[in-house]
Amino acid sequence: MRKPILAGNWKMNKTNSELSDFFGALNSQLVDKWSDYVEVVFAVPYTLLQGAVELTKNTPVVIAAQNVNQHTDGAYTAEVSAAMLQDVGVSSTLVGHSERRQYYGETNASVTEKVKACLASGISPIACVGETQKERESGVTEDVVGKQVLAILAAVSGLTKLVIAYEPVWAIGTGLTASDEQADQVHSFIRGVVAEKFSEQQAQSLRILYGGSAKPTNIDGLLKQENIDGGLVGGASLKPDDFASMINQAVELYRRS
Ligand code: PEP
Repeated sequence: MRKPILAGNWKMNKTNSELSDFFGALNSQLVDKWSDYVEVVFAVPYTLLQGAVELTKNTPVVIAAQNVNQHTDGAYTAEVSAAMLQDVGVSSTLVGHSERRQYYGETNASVTEKVKACLASGISPIACVGETQKERESGVTEDVVGKQVLAILAAVSGLTKLVIAYEPVWAIGTGLTASDEQADQVHSFIRGVVAEKFSEQQAQSLRILYGGSAKPTNIDGLLKQENIDGGLVGGASLKPDDFASMINQAVELYRRS
């Protein structure tokens, strides 16, 4: 069985002074032995990485970055390499989030390079894919998502460190969520693309997260879908009560299965 992941994406939010209260409030609400059933990740801004790593050391919480540069070092002002993430104790990062693709010109080609750079430094990438509203309405969701997935797979020789997040762009931060069935359909398609490139057995081991206005009131239905192995959560991960509720619901679900 695939162990589910609930990953918070804090985007450009919070300062170091808020970290201790946040993790204190979160921990106090989590059910016993939660980490036996769910992996929890927080993708935080660069300025919070070190503080968050420090605060969560000796706990099962994983701290991730939200982006990484594809180069190892050099004249790339303001950029951060995978080795630099390692240097501050970070073991994972988002790659190719739709906001990076939309506002900062990231492409399938740069995502391939970034995933390669992560794996070369031992960083686990959570690589994001998803179609825009216009693409969905034009019926090209599978074409777009398929190409994005192949660009990610072009960077890997195995799947053990890789996580894919399917995030329909029209559902991110909009309050619109893909229905459970809509999301599962695309997840199943992604697993099929992975199976073709690798094998059915390897594809069955890959964790594919859903992202797009996931919250306490809809996470249970999403997690019950066969091909959904967790969530990448923006807004709701900023509130310890909401995120703790989502983690506890996932624990409850997976404890019973
Ligand atoms: C995200 O940023 O990856 C995301 C899914 O945001 P939200 O949950 O706020 O839609």
